[in-house]
Amino acid sequence: MNPLTALHDRIRACRRCLEAGYPITPGPVFSGPATARVMVVGQAPGVTEVRAGRPFNGPSGRRLFRWLAEAGWDEETFRATHYLTAVTKCYPGKAPTGKGDRVPTREEQRLCAPFLEEELRLVRPEVLIPVGGLAVRRFVGPVRLSEAVGTCLRDEEGRWVVPLPHPSGASLWLNRPENRERVVRAIGHLRRLREALDL
Ligand code: SF4
Repeated sequence: MNPLTALHDRIRACRRCLEAGYPITPGPVFSGPATARVMVVGQAPGVTEVRAGRPFNGPSGRRLFRWLAEAGWDEETFRATHYLTAVTKCYPGKAPTGKGDRVPTREEQRLCAPFLEEELRLVRPEVLIPVGGLAVRRFVGPVRLSEAVGTCLRDEEGRWVVPLPHPSGASLWLNRPENRERVVRAIGHLRRLREALDL
């Protein structure tokens, strides 16, 4: 069996967070082929993603794909060609405050981390797009979103890293004109990488 397919089977069978007592909804969400050269990494799927079994499927996906369209990718081609995943792969449920989804705990992130490591090892993306604070910190370190978005870094593995805010939680953050300017810069980096690397 193809190693990525075997990994996907192991992720789908995983119940680690449930066994550790976290109220996740089983049904991990990710997509993309082993040949993907771009990998988008979000925080965790939302309820619309789990229902559809498709990453970035709901309103957050519409905003993400609008940004990617500005960089020159159409959604259908991007979904078929590139890889979409998350720091934790199962829906964590609603936040206790009732506002939005629960942020996965450090322990859930630790339990799921080997799967993301394996995805990175098997897919070997040239460009990484972490979206939202949790994913950005995973790849860029302990920085504020406003410090990271708008930059284009090269990591130790030689991968280009272009952080974006999380499209589902970006509205408030995007109210600030300087943050909208940061997203415009990030989209510019993605467009240049897409053209230069023929992605
Ligand atoms: S979030 Fe990750 S570690 Fe937790 S149950 Fe789902 S696949 Fe397993």
